[in-house]
Amino acid sequence: MLYTYTDGLRRERVAQLFHDKFGSEPTLWARAPGRVDLMGSHTDYNLGYVLTLPISRDTWIAARPNASRMVRLYSANLNEDASFSLDEQEKSVSKRWRNYVQGVASVLQAEGLRTDGFDAVIHSTVPLESGLSSSAALECASAVVFQAIGGWTLAPDAMARLCQRAENEFVGVRCGVLDQYSSCLGEEECALLLDCRNLSTRPVPIARGMQVAICDTRAPRQLAAAEYALRRSQCEEAAARLGIRALRDITMAELSARANQLPVEVRKRSLFIVAENQRVLDLEAALRSGNRAKIGQLLAESFVGARDLFEICSPPMIAMMRAMLEAPGVIGARQAGAGFGGCMVALIEQDRAETFRAAVAANYRRATGTHPEVYVVAAAPGAGLLPEMVRA
Ligand code: ADP
Ligand code: MG
Repeated sequence: MLYTYTDGLRRERVAQLFHDKFGSEPTLWARAPGRVDLMGSHTDYNLGYVLTLPISRDTWIAARPNASRMVRLYSANLNEDASFSLDEQEKSVSKRWRNYVQGVASVLQAEGLRTDGFDAVIHSTVPLESGLSSSAALECASAVVFQAIGGWTLAPDAMARLCQRAENEFVGVRCGVLDQYSSCLGEEECALLLDCRNLSTRPVPIARGMQVAICDTRAPRQLAAAEYALRRSQCEEAAARLGIRALRDITMAELSARANQLPVEVRKRSLFIVAENQRVLDLEAALRSGNRAKIGQLLAESFVGARDLFEICSPPMIAMMRAMLEAPGVIGARQAGAGFGGCMVALIEQDRAETFRAAVAANYRRATGTHPEVYVVAAAPGAGLLPEMVRA
């Protein structure tokens, strides 16, 4: 299914907000997508592969240069204003969200790229703080605005790395580059295979007739940060004991032969990562050819490994897995993101999307008492200007 740039209602609403706030019309519109991973849990810091999908839920920034050194922002999602001067590096404590845009300005300036003031309305259909990378979408859309006004051009991968730096260095969140790569490098109707060792990417066309549904357990993720750090250190320990740089560097046959050299937990973590890495490559082939049986099998194996070997599945995730597998139109389902609650993902038959959504909602609510969010999404192209909305 094609991502459509022209959502008339959304455009009208955002233009109206811009008019209410700034008393004029925006002159340029930037967009950048959120993302979900289709395969590759925790493979990124093991320098392996990830199959990520830039999604049709995205962040739009409607902007107008204001001939000053001030950036004036309004977030429609938060119903909040914020502004900063391009000549100051002071972060905001009370309005942390401003720092994502200011951080992008700061790294662009450090690269010697011209930045100019503008007024802007931000409107996102990526749910915030749900693991679908609303932060990267905001950074990448901001970079597109600075680029359009500044009159320079960055390659998409360079833009992704600068946006990651903004989040690492200015916002102060230690994230990998996956989110920003996903937001900047997507292609129409394709997922993106990222090699986290050398940061090369290739588009993976998804066979016709299939669609992706993101199912949010809405379970709190309190344990996630500590457990994430623990998994990371266990993977590092495995590599050190095996005498390799990263778990990326060992085949399943070699690992099986040497698995008894590892403590039980570290062994289980390694077995998951090495298999998961291979599943990314296997899923690439299955998505291209539309081999539904294979897709279902790979996603199921990923979930079982995440539950039994990597141990990142909480009870709400197990309930959601069942809810997805029992819904009509499902091809396959698994966890997404780092685990411990948050979102999960299913590949579904495009013509059953609405029945799938309703059934997942009913099944999950029956099992847990919680109403889940289900987002049916299409593959979206990478960050850029909304072409038919550019005005002189
Ligand atoms: P995720 O990237 O998974 O959505 P993060 O915690 O990394 O979660 O980033 C979410 C933060 O990014 C929000 O709390 C907010 O500060 C900022 N943000 C993202 N999108 C917007 C938006 N449309 N308006 C204002 N702030 C936003
Ligand atoms: Mg984020």
